[in-house]
Amino acid sequence: MIIIFKENAPEKEINLLEKEIRALGLDIHKSKGQDTLLWGLVGDTSKINMDWLAARQIVESVKRVQEPYKKANRKFHPQDTVVDVAGKKIGGGHFQVIAGPCSIENTQQINSVALSVAQSGAGLLRGGAFKPRTSPYAFQGLHDEGLKLLLEAKKVCGLPVVTELMTPEHVDLFQDVDMIQIGTRNMQNFELLKEVGKLKTPILLKRGMANTLDELLMSAEYIMAGGNENVILCERGIRTFEPSTRNTLDLSAIPMLKKKTHLPVIVDPSHACGIRWMVEPMALAAIAAGADGLMIEVHNDPEKALCDGPQSLTPEMFNTLMDKVRRATAFFREL
Ligand code: PEP
Ligand code: MN
Repeated sequence: MIIIFKENAPEKEINLLEKEIRALGLDIHKSKGQDTLLWGLVGDTSKINMDWLAARQIVESVKRVQEPYKKANRKFHPQDTVVDVAGKKIGGGHFQVIAGPCSIENTQQINSVALSVAQSGAGLLRGGAFKPRTSPYAFQGLHDEGLKLLLEAKKVCGLPVVTELMTPEHVDLFQDVDMIQIGTRNMQNFELLKEVGKLKTPILLKRGMANTLDELLMSAEYIMAGGNENVILCERGIRTFEPSTRNTLDLSAIPMLKKKTHLPVIVDPSHACGIRWMVEPMALAAIAAGADGLMIEVHNDPEKALCDGPQSLTPEMFNTLMDKVRRATAFFREL
């Protein structure tokens, strides 16, 4: 349920209403625009009589929110949310590129990629230490050692770091990570979502490969309901009947999500198409569709990569891409 207050509604009466609403066991999500104050009521609002609220002098209007996601809903929070990841802002007109290898392999590899993507203008460094692999025989990541190398690379390149958490048991190892990634396979791992909901660390939530946008928003709601409202959504391609690309990049997810939610939306064209040469056109298309950022896999020697080499850009290709990204974001901002 949403309450929109009249302009200049006296604070004393607003505070009084807050007490009454809280006494009903409901939580209030407050949003202040330029001259409007809006409250989103979270909890079982069925016991609230809308007429009781609408009759108040201070209330302009009252609406029920049909969607099951509340805190993530744009109706609760009309302005874009800007998530600050260790000084790098994403959303509300702030665009960032997250780049780095699929997985951290050794010191030389991660440092070399970190330095080159930083030089090309990436805003954040990515790298997996715990890898969700389809085959139990494939490289699973360097685990704790990988996290250590990533944090050392952070010092070398100066960029905040993003890496994937797969289980609540590992959460303590991620204390110095700037943004925690929840991967496509864990989008509906509700215990994991509840665990990261207790943190303050920004969360990059990737869309499940077979999940709807409303399911993605419900997963974001799990994190936000726990108290962590620093959530960034990521479209990374979904399963379709088309076998010539690894997944199908759902570009329509970007404008649709932006209509439904105030959270930033970024795009990962690397996992979406799975083909190196296709990353650039898909990245530019994502910018045209309104994405707030990109996540791009880059490897110093893609042919020898232990994971996702075929979709990883060389540092040179990434440099060229960044040049086009800068021009495209400037162009579409003007449009
Ligand atoms: C990744 O970003 O390394 C990854 C495994 O992505 P996804 O969860 O989208 O497959
Ligand atoms: Mn990968």
